Amino acid sequence: MFTDTAHVDPPFLDATAASPAPARLDHRDLRRDEFWRGIPAYATVSEEEFRTHTFQNRASVTNARQLRKTLGDLLPESFYEDLEAGVAHAPMALRISPYLLSLIDWAEPYGDPIRTQFLPLRSQQQPDHPMLRFDSLAEQADSPVPGLTHRYRDKALFLPQQSCPVYCRFCTRSYAVGNDTPEIEKLKLTASSARWEEAFTYIESQPALEDIVISGGDSYNLRPEHLQLIGERLLKMPNIRRIRYATKGLCVLPQKMLSDHAWVDALTRVVDLGRSLHKDVVVHTHFNHAAEITGITHDALNRLTERGIHVRCQTVLQRGVNDDPAAMQLLVRRLSYINVHPYYVYVHDMVPGVEDLRTPLSTARHLEKHVRGATAGFNTPAFVLDTPGGGGKRDVHSPEHYDEETGISVFASPSVKPGQQFLYFDPLAGLSELARWRWTVPSERRAMIDEAVAAAS
Ligand SMILES: *Cc1c(COP(=O)(O)O)cnc(C)c1O
Ligand code: SF4
Repeated sequence: MFTDTAHVDPPFLDATAASPAPARLDHRDLRRDEFWRGIPAYATVSEEEFRTHTFQNRASVTNARQLRKTLGDLLPESFYEDLEAGVAHAPMALRISPYLLSLIDWAEPYGDPIRTQFLPLRSQQQPDHPMLRFDSLAEQADSPVPGLTHRYRDKALFLPQQSCPVYCRFCTRSYAVGNDTPEIEKLKLTASSARWEEAFTYIESQPALEDIVISGGDSYNLRPEHLQLIGERLLKMPNIRRIRYATKGLCVLPQKMLSDHAWVDALTRVVDLGRSLHKDVVVHTHFNHAAEITGITHDALNRLTERGIHVRCQTVLQRGVNDDPAAMQLLVRRLSYINVHPYYVYVHDMVPGVEDLRTPLSTARHLEKHVRGATAGFNTPAFVLDTPGGGGKRDVHSPEHYDEETGISVFASPSVKPGQQFLYFDPLAGLSELARWRWTVPSERRAMIDEAVAAAS
């Protein structure tokens, strides 16, 4: 029927009348050059070595002194001092892979989207919003067992351990993920089979639970035998129908898919077991900018595609990283091109120390309009906000009330916490001078919140 032109309305035969905007194909331009050679410490690193996870892990940078050794005179001393002071005030310890370091444009580091996500600079940090709370999503309040958050009826979040291949300075779980920092002593979620067994026993005892997100920390940092043990244990529970392994690794250290055969094989065995049991096993990952995706990423994803392993992406919306329509469209198209399904774009959580990265809710609403229609509907992410206080994820277009002047939005979450209201607060930096002043005065603050809650009721 589709090839029978007699069924097509005449206007569609006229190419000039019906053709869409000229196609931009830059989402297919994946870097295949030896881009790391420009970094002094990697100038002699061969392609073969750069494509191994062992090199990437060994050469990862965890403090300003190592960065100075790696980059040498590419940067002025003032940058290293800015970084050192930034790290001292950051909620997350520093850890970045040579892969990501090499993708930063060191001629313009202050505005670079990858630098922005991983290397905190004191000169860019802003005071936290007065309504910001530690563990803003209140995950610990919904945790029947340490490291297991059961907020939604049929799905739960399991944190088997707390380390990651890199540390994102904006991590939502800065209360638990990574090493202690000068300002934060972390909740300890070590990889202990006794703690895991407690979580498994709970999951088995809840007939409504069907879906487990294995997050962390990062599934990349699970030993292959542990990855397999957790997957098999969960899949064998009659109530569990779906599991997802969450890892940022595909973005920050794609080399592991090319050289850590034991890990990829363990994942494949769990996916195959899932298939034989007619259950769903997928990988969830986290890319925020198109520059993170190179030919190495494509090769890594192809290995998973060959094994029938599906990957979905959860992106965090960040100012200066992906908060304009062109950047978000390019990311979505490039992810689709390498067979990663864009699943969510999250409005930035209210986490300490990263106020410079948050955008107002209105930015997400604006972006959604531009992204929908840019590619297949199933590759169009849902723009959501994970409400502070534990109301769960909400569509950015569904607040009961939103006042762009005060920056307050009020959400209801009838399927998660019926009858309650959940408030989100836009960053102060974008508000009017009057509104910013009102936020500094406790009585004005109260009045703004009371007004918003009343308007939403
Ligand atoms: C996000 C989240 C999930 C998974 O939610 P989906 O919308 O299905 O991706 C499960 N539990 C918790 C606590 C979460 O925050
Ligand atoms: S990889 Fe994920 S869990 Fe780890 S620091 Fe980054 S955002 Fe947090």
